[in-house]
Amino acid sequence: MTDFTGLRAVVTGGASGIGLAAASLLAARGAQVVVFDLKPDVPEPLNGIAADVSDDASVRAAVSAAALRLGGIDILVNNAGIGAQGTVATNDDDEWHRVLDVNVVGIARVSRAVLPYLKRSEAAAIVNTCSIAATAGLPNRALYSASKGAVLALTMAMAADHVREGIRVNCVNPGTADTPWVGRLLDAAADSATERANLEARQPMGRLVTADEVAQAIVYLASPLAGSTTGTALAVDGGMQNLRLPAV
Ligand code: NAD
Repeated sequence: MTDFTGLRAVVTGGASGIGLAAASLLAARGAQVVVFDLKPDVPEPLNGIAADVSDDASVRAAVSAAALRLGGIDILVNNAGIGAQGTVATNDDDEWHRVLDVNVVGIARVSRAVLPYLKRSEAAAIVNTCSIAATAGLPNRALYSASKGAVLALTMAMAADHVREGIRVNCVNPGTADTPWVGRLLDAAADSATERANLEARQPMGRLVTADEVAQAIVYLASPLAGSTTGTALAVDGGMQNLRLPAV
């Protein structure tokens, strides 16, 4: 287990799902953790600060408050993200701007505000939450997939830009993870139990990824154990991306 004692972390979208699991795991390993979220209701020892990653003034105020509270920032987990269903035929410009502004520009916005602190850290790392949607042709997810493809490219470009400053930048690519997000999608289905069973049956492992499994990968990439790893994507997808199973 990596000891994060003395390290200070910010996790965006950390009040739910994967972000909450990552923030909790970092805290359990000794880090001081601030969560940015729209409604930052988080259990102790996490600190919640209200922030909207699509609003630059909100982000800058939250980063200043976090740095003041923590005495600096060593680790940034850019996890906040929103979903979108649809095709290029159905998503209008407003939807494109709204989702890209949170999922892609949000990462740039928070990173821009946090970078001055990371440059002063001896253990600086950024982990972005991407998705297998970045590299797969998922139906009815054109906008979401484009946003995550951009997150993958942005991760590699950020890694190149900041490698000589001692800042590592990586991302995780979760498959379908059992979080409130997926719960909301299932709840919206006519028969959510059957929908869940169908979803599980489509997974190579026959089950969804857990938020904690994704959090373990985020925490690994943020840790000194991954000291020579930068500009990469770690899939936590139950084999979804690479396995080709025979049809049953
Ligand atoms: P979730 O809905 O449970 O949590 C997302 C959190 O982000 C929420 O607390 C929400 O309030 C916050 N958030 C949304 N917009 C925000 C904004 N503008 N500013 C600040 N916070 C904001 O979802 P999750 O499943 O835990 O997803 C987290 C990340 O994982 C997302 O980036 C998502 O794209 C990615 N992901 C999820 C899955 C999955 O199957 N659950 C798969 C691949 C990737």
